[in-house]
Amino acid sequence: MSNNIATSALTIGIDIGGTKVLGGVVDNKGTIIDSARRPTPASGGAALITTIIDLIKEFQGKHQIAGIGISVAALISKDQGTIVGAPNIANLSKLNFVAELKKVFNLPVIAENDANAAMWAEYKFGNAQGLNPVIFFIIGTGMGGGLVVDGKLFRGANGIGAEFGHMIVQPNGLQCGCGAFGCIEQYASGSALMRYAKEAIAANPKQAEALLPMCNGDFANLTGSILTQAAKNGDELALAAFDKQADWLGSACASYTLLLDPQAIVVGGGVVEAGELFLTRVRNAMERYMPFAGTHLLPKIIAAKHGNDAGLIGAADLVRD
Ligand SMILES: [Zn+2]
Repeated sequence: MSNNIATSALTIGIDIGGTKVLGGVVDNKGTIIDSARRPTPASGGAALITTIIDLIKEFQGKHQIAGIGISVAALISKDQGTIVGAPNIANLSKLNFVAELKKVFNLPVIAENDANAAMWAEYKFGNAQGLNPVIFFIIGTGMGGGLVVDGKLFRGANGIGAEFGHMIVQPNGLQCGCGAFGCIEQYASGSALMRYAKEAIAANPKQAEALLPMCNGDFANLTGSILTQAAKNGDELALAAFDKQADWLGSACASYTLLLDPQAIVVGGGVVEAGELFLTRVRNAMERYMPFAGTHLLPKIIAAKHGNDAGLIGAADLVRD
């Protein structure tokens, strides 16, 4: 597929998350030259389509646009249009963004899974450039995955490929948003990190007191950012929570290494706030669990360059393909 978009032309990237829709006008270097955001309509579906159409029209009023790329927290069919499953956004199932937008705009349109789009942004413009193959995790509330092999996004036979967050690591373990039980997302995501911290607080109320002032006296105010700061300050309870999360992720990285032999594993999302504090622990755990240890090179584990804008930058570039 080629949309024949001139390199000098501008494209729009739209990233649809559970709470907000981020839009940006992006050039061929991955630079965002204009941006806007809207809350994700609670009813999802048709209201969400209207929100996106309004955003695009607003950009079109100011810029000459040559294509539209949609990044969405959902599984998308191989035709890059139909939503197969979206656990965090209402009424998206069977919706076809591409068809809906093409009814309104006479432009090339693609839709891509948000982690795939973010992976693409890292590959084209970020810290995954030149690496082959390269794995990407986006670790926030959940755990998304992306894979580039030989310079191409890997999507699999049906478009659902490279969902690294849904590898089963604990048969009959905790139920995941995807419906299955024991996915790595339930043990290595930001939500899991918070769960480990809360379990430790309940188990060791005395030790947890050191964290109270950072939470304004109430653990209900504990956030990932507070936990990260506490860990950087050397708080043992916070560090133990990161240890658990990193241990699970490191063990998964050992499996992915034997599966795909990646040159690097790039980690993006909210967890990057913890930086080397987290990544060092993941590397150590990966080495500890590695099959055929000592006989082969290990992938680098590095932080992503892009933050919340990765999905829209990647989607805006993918429509140029
Ligand atoms: Zn799952």
